[in-house]
Amino acid sequence: MNNFESLGLSKKLLQAVESEGYTTPTPVQEQAIPPLLAGRDVLGVAQTGTGKTAAFALPVLQVMSRSVPQGKRYIRALILSPTRELAAQIGERFAAYSENLNLNHKVIFGGVNQNPQVRALQKGLDILVATPGRLLDLIGQRHIDLSRVEFFVLDEADRMLDMGFIRDINKVLKLLPKKRQNLLFSATMPGSIADLAGSFLNDAVMIDVSPKEVTVDRIEQKIMFIRKADKRRLLVQIIKSQKVKCGIVFTRTKHGANRLVKQLDQSGISAAAIHGNKSQGARTKALAGFKAGRIPILVATDIASRGIDVEGITHVFNYDLPNEPESYVHRIGRTARAGRSGIAYGFCDNSESGYLVGIQQLIGAEIPVDDTHEFHFEGAIPKPGQKPGKIKENKSQKKKSSENKNPRSRSDNKPNQYKRRSNNNSRDGDDRRPRGGNNRTSQGGNRSNRQNNRR
Ligand code: AMP
Repeated sequence: MNNFESLGLSKKLLQAVESEGYTTPTPVQEQAIPPLLAGRDVLGVAQTGTGKTAAFALPVLQVMSRSVPQGKRYIRALILSPTRELAAQIGERFAAYSENLNLNHKVIFGGVNQNPQVRALQKGLDILVATPGRLLDLIGQRHIDLSRVEFFVLDEADRMLDMGFIRDINKVLKLLPKKRQNLLFSATMPGSIADLAGSFLNDAVMIDVSPKEVTVDRIEQKIMFIRKADKRRLLVQIIKSQKVKCGIVFTRTKHGANRLVKQLDQSGISAAAIHGNKSQGARTKALAGFKAGRIPILVATDIASRGIDVEGITHVFNYDLPNEPESYVHRIGRTARAGRSGIAYGFCDNSESGYLVGIQQLIGAEIPVDDTHEFHFEGAIPKPGQKPGKIKENKSQKKKSSENKNPRSRSDNKPNQYKRRSNNNSRDGDDRRPRGGNNRTSQGGNRSNRQNNRR
């Protein structure tokens, strides 16, 4: 097994790593650090939680510390992050790893007063961690000069594209000098990311520690079929019966997150919401309360939750199943951090069964069904052969479902294996998993297609 010394890190960085308590490099660190120290570009398929920040921060710091400029500092490394939370966490990591070095960094993002950021830029800094909007804003105001950047890191590139940052990224790329070292990290590698990578990486070393291999195995997953209207009561039941002290609940919308926080409060459960409409101050406060254990439940939307790295999360609730299968993997990866295990519940209502099909195809496995709860609803189970994605109701189905006000009666049409059995418990659900479009053969095919899309 490798240790940090064998990766070629300097004494000062080894000390920093040691004081962080790291003993063994993670796979992404083991694979990325040597080529980065050797000056190569790197394309990494790795999500937050794999140790990817150290994988790029340590070699960047090491190379930069070899030649510290005399006089006023200028930006030599630029790290672009899609969200403020991730940017802040990258900043914290740089602070920890550069403890013994004469290099300084600053994190800039929108939603907060720009003046302290401008003052730090005017004083001069070596490393800039930024979200695209505020970066371009301050470039427009001539507070930032990227013409001497030696390292460019694009973090969570897939999320960048999802959030519509491609034009901003291209604008930034035009402002960078031609000669530089590039790193791109992404949790997934769809064609759009491969294209983006091809547009600015040079002869990059490809590293793949994608989430299927690194996180899913340690997480116990359960799917619960349920009516939308019953989700809140089921959530409250589980939180109370399992005495959840550190759990994260995912909703699809910001409005849904706010509403759920209020409803949990009414049930005597303290929770805070974290999403893009909250001010930066409110997000930071919610996250700090959660990290400190004062708030047991965080209700989050996908975008706001990216990069949340809280070690003790025991429960992840997919209150709404995500419409993008990749988000499911990100969400459940919020638990089982740092070698611990965790449990991830998915509440699937009848409008979400197609999302479940897509998720199971992506992870290449069927998620065990827990039908032992009182709200079990067979009408939410995917139909045999159901396609992944949004359910398109045709006119006659719409009419039928609006006529059928009591969805329980629809379960009579479901195949037998989905029907509730009285003496089952939640852990032996394999024989009751959805079949049809989700059998192993069809998933295997889809999974290998996805892998063929990776580069
Ligand atoms: P990241 O994927 O960069 O967000 O890192 C996830 C978490 O893993 C952070 O809390 C890091 O402090 C921690 N970490 C990074 N590298 C190591 C390592 N080699 N050993 C133990 N923990 C690590």
